[in-house]
This record gives sequence, structure tokens and C-alpha cells, in this order.
Amino acid sequence: MKSWLSVSPDSDFSIYNFPFGVYCIANQEPALASILGNQIIDLAAMNKLGYFKELNISQSVFENKYLNDFIALGKEKTNKVRNTLIEIFSNNNAELALNEKNKSLILKDYSTVTMLMPVKVGNYTDFYSSIQHATNVGTMFRDPKNALLPNYRHIPIGYHGRASSITVSGTDFHRPKGQIKPPDSEQPYMGPTQQLDFELEIAFITGKSTTLGQSITTQQANDYIFGLVLFNDWSARDFQSWEYVPLGPFLAKNFCSSVSPWVVTLEALEQFRVASEKQVPEVLPYLQCPGNNNYDINLEVFIRDEKGTEMQVSSSNFKYMYWSMKQQLAHHTVNGCNIEVGDMYASGTISGSQPHEYGSMLEITWRGTKPLQMPDGSTRKFINDNDTVIMKGYALKDNVRVGFGKVMTKVLPAI
Ligand code: MN
Repeated sequence: MKSWLSVSPDSDFSIYNFPFGVYCIANQEPALASILGNQIIDLAAMNKLGYFKELNISQSVFENKYLNDFIALGKEKTNKVRNTLIEIFSNNNAELALNEKNKSLILKDYSTVTMLMPVKVGNYTDFYSSIQHATNVGTMFRDPKNALLPNYRHIPIGYHGRASSITVSGTDFHRPKGQIKPPDSEQPYMGPTQQLDFELEIAFITGKSTTLGQSITTQQANDYIFGLVLFNDWSARDFQSWEYVPLGPFLAKNFCSSVSPWVVTLEALEQFRVASEKQVPEVLPYLQCPGNNNYDINLEVFIRDEKGTEMQVSSSNFKYMYWSMKQQLAHHTVNGCNIEVGDMYASGTISGSQPHEYGSMLEITWRGTKPLQMPDGSTRKFINDNDTVIMKGYALKDNVRVGFGKVMTKVLPAI
């Protein structure tokens, strides 16, 4: 497939993608959008002009500051919107291509718009589904011989996180303060974290609600997964190691999480499915799901220092997940926990087996024992004030590229 609109071959937003997001432009109301190359497609304008008229979607769904109402229409309709976009923008369709007036109402240069938080997140869960990450953390914090706890290969481990502090790419935050108890000190003190870290993750968003008591099987799970975003689960390691016993992370994780603005649909990622991780021992029947349930999505992390010098510090892949999204959702609801449209479920830090594939500074610098050398000669054990962390993700196969763009967050000094 090719488009009449010019799209660079290395663009994440090819004609195979058409993700969904929310944008605004100076002094105007927000609206739902998609993107092709470097052109934003205003979906509210398209609906007004009748491009989706067979779908009978209320204009208020598109003139909205969140995707939730759109997602709640159901995949049958949202997939038709995406398929209509593919049709209208493909190079054998001249209708919009030759209509200068409509083009000027629908298309905006990406560089001129502001992207907003794509969904109103009601509930947020963070999993721990990369076995390499769990092994690395267990080795550092506990015992290298028993790095994985006995439950790891039986249960997709997770905890309920904080929805209110999930922010869109470009939202800077101040270094958080909290309790720290240094290993050589008897008492804790309160102060800015000395071990601010990123976690390279992907999150999925549910597009259908369930009622209390209802469970979702692994076979049904994909119907409930609308799409995916890049997710940086910012973490304060010194708060974490002091507070996490016995109930798990709290202030170490709830001060800010950053997401990419474009929700890439599960349908756009279909052709990048790959074999699931081999699970030994065999999992319980409600978690079994044969087939290709992982996705081959390249993931990259960069640190940009105060002077603007950028260095890549990680290159991982979403295919390294031990537990698939289907298994996560089946496990999450096996007890009857209800889910809602717009809920977010992060994967857990995605680390590969090689050191350059580690998805957090904790692992990359091995808890600060192997500092990273930056291009300007300075070193990093964790993230400094005024550093910007940038995560990118894209799938690529047979010259078809479907990507996420990026999630980028700058760390400001503590206040
Ligand atoms: Mn995490």
C-alpha cells in the first residue's frame, strides 16, 4: 500500500498504522486525530465533512478531549474508521487528494500541534512480565541463586498503580521527594530521590468494560484490548527499597508515569506477532494460550543531557515478554475484577538477555556499580536533573513500518 500523501519510508506513521490520539492547536478545542507521515488528520473535521457518514458516529465523540467515548463504540466501528482512513489516503483514491478545501480543513502539520493525554485512565495496573528483568532485580536485591521467586513462572505478577499521575509525553516533572534509608544509616530521612530511574515498558488500553464477577479468557482477551502505547514507569529506587516490604511499590512509582500520545491499534500490529516465550513449567489451564502471542516491536531508550547531547542507552524488544497481554488480562479478571474502557496495563520493564537490552538504569549500571559514560565525559548511575529520557518503539517487517513515535520527559530539579 502507498499513499498519495508523501510519507518518509522511516516514518512510524505509515499507511499501515493510523493510530489514534487527541490534539489541539493554539486556542482551539481538542479533537480526535490520526496521523500519516508528518500530517495530523483531524477526525472531527472528517466526520463533519461526511467521510464516516455510514458509521453514524455522533460529532461529540470526535470533538472530545479523550479517546474513551470513541473506543467505547467498539472495535467494529473503530476498525471501520481506521479502514476508511486507509482507503481515503491510499494512492488509488483521488477523492480527498484532489479536494484542496477539505485537505486544508483535515490536515495539519505535526510540528504545529500539541498532543494531549489520549485517554482518561480510570484504573492502572503495572505487571512484571519480563523474566530477564525479574531475574536481574532478584539477583541484585536478593539472592543470585534464587533470583526468581517461586511464584514467577505460575502467576503474571502485578500491582495496582496510580492513574492520576499518568501524563503524556512532553510533561516535565520535578524530582520527587520521599523517605530514604541509606544502608549504613539507622534512621530514614526525607529528601529528593538520589536514584531516579526510568522503566522501559509498553502499556495496553482496554476498549470494553466488564461487569463485576465477569472473567475474560485468554481466547477473548484480544477483543478487549484496543491498542498500545509506550510507557515510562518512572521509579525512585531508594524510596522503593525502603518502602516495598510488605505491600509493594507506593511513592517510588506514583509521582509520574509518561505515555506516548498515539494509541497504536492491536489490528495495526497483527502482522508483527511472533511466538510466545516457552513457559516451563506448564501454566494453569486458565492461562494457557497457544499461538503467536508476542509482538516484535523494537524499543529504544535515549538520555539527552542539559546541553542537548543524546546517547542511546538501551535497545530492547517487546517480544521478550514471558507473560503475554492475553495472559495478563485473563489473570487480572479470573477473580471477577471488572475492567473499564480506558484502563491501562503496563508490561513491566522489558529487558532482553544482553546488557545493552536492559530496560532500566538499575540494570544498565547494575545498581550504580557500572556507571554509564556520557558523550561529554560525565557519568550516570541514575537520571540527573535536567536530563530528558526519550523512548521510541517501532515494528518493521518486509519494509512495512508501524511505530509509536516517542515518549519524552524532562526531569526538573526538586522543589
Ligand atoms: Mn514498572
